[in-house]
Amino acid sequence: MTTPANCDKHLFEEATGMCRACRRPFCADCLVYAQGPNHAPLCIPCALTAAGVRSTASARARRGRGMTGRLLAGIGATAAAAMVAIPALSSLH
Ligand SMILES: [Zn+2]
Ligand SMILES: [Zn+2]
Repeated sequence: MTTPANCDKHLFEEATGMCRACRRPFCADCLVYAQGPNHAPLCIPCALTAAGVRSTASARARRGRGMTGRLLAGIGATAAAAMVAIPALSSLH
């Protein structure tokens, strides 16, 4: 593997490290330095597994965060659209 790898989960993020358990490339957001920066990182699923959390619990946590992220993104997009639309409308007159 000499080409720059992308995160296994975020396909457009450049990987900054490799999970030492599953050996897949992940970006900084996906890697957990559970034992400090001098130890090889784990990806979040492997870190949760290592911590003894069941995979169903981690799936539920991920889904919850995803919904919040989409909601916030929707609010942000609406606000951005309003900020663009209001000056454009007033300049028409
Ligand atoms: Zn892993
Ligand atoms: Zn990632």
